Amino acid sequence: MADTIFDVVVVGGGPAGYTCAIRASQYGLKVALVDANDRLGGTCLLWGCIPTKAMLFTAEVWDHLKHAATYGIDGVGEARLNWKNVLARKDDVISRHTKGLDFLMKKNKIATFKGFGKLTGPSKDGVFAVDVKLTVGGAETVKAKKVVVATGSDARMLPGYQADETILTNYEILKIAEMPKSLVVIGSGAVGVEFASIFKSFGAEVTILEMLPRVVPVEDEEISKELLRLFKKRGIDVNLSIKDTKIEKNKDGVLVSWTDSNGKPQKKQAEKVLVAVGRSPRTAGIDLEKTNIKPDRGFIMTNEWMETTEPGVYAIGDIVGGMPQLAHVGSMAGLVVAAKLAGKYARPVNRARIPGCTYTDPQIASVGMTETQAKEKGYQVKTGKFPFVGNSKATILDAHDGFIKVVSDAKYGEILGVHIIGPYATEIIAEAVTALELEATVEEMMFTIHAHPTVAEALLDAYSSVEGKAVNV
Ligand SMILES: Cc1cc2nc3c(=O)[nH]c(=O)nc-3n(C[C@H](O)[C@H](O)[C@H](O)COP(=O)(O)OP(=O)(O)OC[C@H]3O[C@@H](n4cnc5c(N)ncnc54)[C@H](O)[C@@H]3O)c2cc1C
Repeated sequence: MADTIFDVVVVGGGPAGYTCAIRASQYGLKVALVDANDRLGGTCLLWGCIPTKAMLFTAEVWDHLKHAATYGIDGVGEARLNWKNVLARKDDVISRHTKGLDFLMKKNKIATFKGFGKLTGPSKDGVFAVDVKLTVGGAETVKAKKVVVATGSDARMLPGYQADETILTNYEILKIAEMPKSLVVIGSGAVGVEFASIFKSFGAEVTILEMLPRVVPVEDEEISKELLRLFKKRGIDVNLSIKDTKIEKNKDGVLVSWTDSNGKPQKKQAEKVLVAVGRSPRTAGIDLEKTNIKPDRGFIMTNEWMETTEPGVYAIGDIVGGMPQLAHVGSMAGLVVAAKLAGKYARPVNRARIPGCTYTDPQIASVGMTETQAKEKGYQVKTGKFPFVGNSKATILDAHDGFIKVVSDAKYGEILGVHIIGPYATEIIAEAVTALELEATVEEMMFTIHAHPTVAEALLDAYSSVEGKAVNV
């Protein structure tokens, strides 16, 4: 191996890295992939997207079972949650997909190195060297004409605290031995509200602490308001505009204290606290300083083709500054880089067309501009809103809460943003992404046939509502 010169070496085998490696190989490039973990898949597969959604599925089934009699199913009796099996099923889903990735590496003839990779500096005679400290012991230098860095991110901790069995990040909470009876969640971004929603379904007493004035702060204001209303309806205690959070461990778990929006001190005793205050780029220790890359608070800045300030070195995924930290953003960036390196057609990742999904109950999904962002950009904005109460499939699903909001440009009718809170939001957003990608107008979507009865046809009513012509309200 030492003498092999690969076309590209990808450092990091999360969704950004493995997607890039597979596509590069499909284009006929000779590819190496280095990953520090014993299993491929990164945060997404091992500690993020997949395990949380596996647990969410259990939570959904559990919620349905609670209403089984209403749906005409008698004899379910006293359903009980088997926490050990909840975790076991989640682990089974993960392990099937890690094995799948191993298979894909072999199928695509990607040379995989298990170990921690470090950059060694600019290329010499057009060849880069990545030093790998192998997990099994020893070291290897992987040589390649291009390098793609995809080392991902780690959960942020509040200053002065360390994660353990009581103070949890996404990593610890996915393997706690017992279902906690009470949980404080610090942070109400996607990760925080997803765990809050899951553990509330499982029967825990859940308290959310958020320093900003609204939950899911990146979403449209009306979506935040609706989630707040529905979380309160579900009995989740949500505290906004809080500050001075402190955590004290005690024999019963943790005492979390804070100052509320009126300046009054508050506290909550709970079994566990989840800290979900964002993610830091994992770029320390990979010797960026030996290159011409100057990280910005740990993030790597790139041009639109994901190339860094070190020619021939690319960065993709959660380590890239100015991009949302989402699996599909990283993997699309990986596809773009692979195409570019192979000299094939590629389009840069368009930040304005990135769907964001939050897998709470109810789900949230959005793409494009919020109403406020569109107005700030100078658009003459026209919006429409359709409530799921008018959608027959939502009635069938017993899921009437929420709505779809469409933000459009009054002048030409172009759809600028679609914001959904309600059933299957994370699935039906795909149509809205396509509509934005094709620069569709409200009128065009008003004459696009949607199958009946589906949740997706609520989009038809939502587009029509921009013109005050939703049929089903
Ligand atoms: C709880 C949770 C839920 C989430 N849910 C979603 C979701 O539903 N949808 C979504 O889009 N996103 C979700 N995310 C975000 C998503 O997980 C990340 O955006 C995604 O994993 C980033 O991919 P990545 O490839 O950049 O990095 P990672 O997935 O973090 O992978 C990085 C890889 O690099 C390896 N590595 C690190 N350093 C080195 C080194 N020096 N040498 C070799 N290898 C190295 C690591 O072992 C790891 O395998 C979630 C995140 C969390 C925490």
